[in-house]
Amino acid sequence: MDNIELFKEIVSKSDNIVFFGGAGVSTESGIPDFRSKDGLYNQKYDYPPETILSHTFFVAETKEFYKFYRDKLNATTYEPNITHIKLAELEKEGKLKAVVTQNIDGLHQKAGSKVVYELHGSIYRNYCTKCKEFYGPEIIFDDPTKEIPTCKKCGGIIKPDVVLYEEGLDDEVVSGAIDAISNCDTLIVGGTSLTVYPASGLIRYFRGKNIILINRDNTSYDDMASLVIHDSLGNVFRNI
Ligand code: ZN
Repeated sequence: MDNIELFKEIVSKSDNIVFFGGAGVSTESGIPDFRSKDGLYNQKYDYPPETILSHTFFVAETKEFYKFYRDKLNATTYEPNITHIKLAELEKEGKLKAVVTQNIDGLHQKAGSKVVYELHGSIYRNYCTKCKEFYGPEIIFDDPTKEIPTCKKCGGIIKPDVVLYEEGLDDEVVSGAIDAISNCDTLIVGGTSLTVYPASGLIRYFRGKNIILINRDNTSYDDMASLVIHDSLGNVFRNI
C-alpha cells in the first residue's frame, strides 16, 4: 500500500480527526509565507518582516506597520484551495473535529470550516485599542489613503487581532487547541516545519493513535509520526 492509500485508510477509519496546519496550507492559494526570507521584503522595506510585525514596531511606527500590513497580509481576495475545501467537508461529515492553524488568512472559514482555532489571530478581526469596538477587514483595507485606521466611535487607533511578535497567544484559543489535540485519535499535521512556537509544543499533547505528517521537507518530528508524506498538501487531499 502506498502512502496515499494508507492516508485514505486512516482517514476513512477515523471519526475524530484534528488538522494542524501552517503557512504551507495557504501557499497553494497563492498566499506567500511571510516568514520565508525570499528577499522580496528586503527590496522594498527597510526592516525584516519580523521587525515590522512586532508589537514594538506597531506602537512606534504605526504608519509603516500598516503600509507593510496592507501590502503583504491582505488575504481577503484569495480563495480556499483543495486542502481547505476537503477539511471543511470532513468536518461536515463529522469526521474532523477541529482545525488548528497558524494562518491568519481566514481561508478555512471561507471554505466552510466551523471549528477553527486561529493561534495567531485573524485579519478578519480588528479592534479599537481605546474602546475595544470590533471591526471587519474593511476598516483597514478599504481606504488605503487613511494611513492609520481609526475607530469610527472614539477615534482610537485600530489594531488587527493578529498576534504580533513579542505578543502572547490568546489563552482561550490555546486551551481549545490543546483540548482538541489531546482528545483526537488522528492528528494530521501539514504545511508547517513545526519550528515556529507554539506548534512544536502543542502536538506533544497528542495521545491518540495516528500522527500523519505532510510536508515537502523533512521535519524533526518525522520519527514520531505513524505516516510521513513528503508531498504537497493539495496532492494528498485531492485524493479523499
Ligand atoms: Zn474606539
